[in-house]
Amino acid sequence: MSTIIGTIFNIQRYSLDDGPGIRTTVFLKGCPLECLWCSNPESQNPWPEVTHRDASCIKCGRCVEVCPVQAISINENAFIINREKCTRCAKCTEVCSAEALKIIGKEMSVEEVFIEVMRDIEYYQNSGGGITVSGGEVLTQPEFAANLLKKCRDAGMHTCLDTSGYGDTGALKKILPYTSLVLFDLKHMDPTAHHKLTGQSNELILRNLQVIVESGVPVMIRVPIIPGLNDSEENIKAIARTVSGMTTAPRIDLLPYHRYGMGKYKMLDLEYQLADIARPSDEQLDRAKEIVESYGLGCEIVV
Ligand code: SF4
Ligand code: SF4
Repeated sequence: MSTIIGTIFNIQRYSLDDGPGIRTTVFLKGCPLECLWCSNPESQNPWPEVTHRDASCIKCGRCVEVCPVQAISINENAFIINREKCTRCAKCTEVCSAEALKIIGKEMSVEEVFIEVMRDIEYYQNSGGGITVSGGEVLTQPEFAANLLKKCRDAGMHTCLDTSGYGDTGALKKILPYTSLVLFDLKHMDPTAHHKLTGQSNELILRNLQVIVESGVPVMIRVPIIPGLNDSEENIKAIARTVSGMTTAPRIDLLPYHRYGMGKYKMLDLEYQLADIARPSDEQLDRAKEIVESYGLGCEIVV
């Protein structure tokens, strides 16, 4: 049997926000969406990539010397990585004693990730937890995700799929049979606004949500609340209306916008576009919750 390999950018143990109980969340690299508020910009490219923490860098130039393709330069104290030239060989990270350089993303087999996840099996058993596969977008690596979840399920674990829903429907159908619960993000119900905020329309996402509901796998909807971008009464009502019309109306979790991921943009030479947006107020969140509940749905604000 061939070894199935995935590209992972983080394995987070003792996770409490990605499904019931204590969980291990496996973050897969690669996402077709570019949400303006993305708190994991390192998840977007499907391949491993170099990050540079300027605050740690002592500008010693050792990385410049070892880079085989001259992708690094230091000009008047400005550190520049030419990402088109970089082959991700990791040689620069090996010589950086300041630990300013790091490769994000690693290829791992299903078996290797499974061994890592199994380390906390007792916690899962005692708390009703298990594994969550997240991203990036899991649907970009369906073979890997399906095989990992199957293996975990065979070992008696509760399995969660955390998805934006933007991906091939065939990929989704491969993963669903090994999924105990789907955590499904809904961002905006208007296709044009959705496109503006994420780079893609929401039509495929809504079709895939219907596929999940029809499959009978329980689903929990998660709505990020981004002030001024998707928190209008009209949009929250449209989301609640859609969800309440489903055959098994699931709960909606509201996730307040935060800027925890902002520092990572700089490390990847990316621009963070929402620096001026603040976390929604308690009043804004309570109002959104009230709207959702007025449609007869359960609702939690996840802080
Ligand atoms: S080796 Fe590390 S500390 Fe030295 S210049 Fe390169 S990134 Fe900075
Ligand atoms: S990963 Fe390799 S190619 Fe890329 S900057 Fe570092 S040494 Fe150069």
